[in-house]
Amino acid sequence: MNESYSGGCQCGAVRYHVEGPPSGVSICNCRMCQKALGNLTGPFASFKARVAWTRGAPKLFRSSDRVWRGFCADCGTPLTYQWGEGGNPALTIGSFDEPERLLPTVEFARDNRHPIFEHYDAMVVEPLGNTDEERDILAVLRSFQHPDRDTDSWTVGGQ
Ligand SMILES: [Zn+2]
Ligand SMILES: [Zn+2]
Repeated sequence: MNESYSGGCQCGAVRYHVEGPPSGVSICNCRMCQKALGNLTGPFASFKARVAWTRGAPKLFRSSDRVWRGFCADCGTPLTYQWGEGGNPALTIGSFDEPERLLPTVEFARDNRHPIFEHYDAMVVEPLGNTDEERDILAVLRSFQHPDRDTDSWTVGGQ
């Protein structure tokens, strides 16, 4: 059986599939990745196989003369990093259905690493649903997030 991976954005308007194994799994601490993902680091997996868009396609923002960054135009989930106009995009690790299958082995731009990565274990651990109030909210909360698997049909926003 071939190794393969699927994923997509939070709302489910954009879904992808790609055959593995990945050719590279990395995080990048550069300021461009931080800004593009609204996050502290840019975790990406790249593949030799062409990424197939199985539902929708990302909108592209050209962040430099060489790089295009893709995101869902409906929900804003950052999805891709693409070098060159027709390049095969790398995919954000967090958007995969099983992100735990992709472990970065390379760190780019360590000189810009956010201070939190030296202090992860010093943080107070606060489980979700720790208080009665939170438990009450979680009990009735209706998620509109696409499930972590392919679906035959899907209505964005849960209507
Ligand atoms: Zn979306
Ligand atoms: Zn970067």
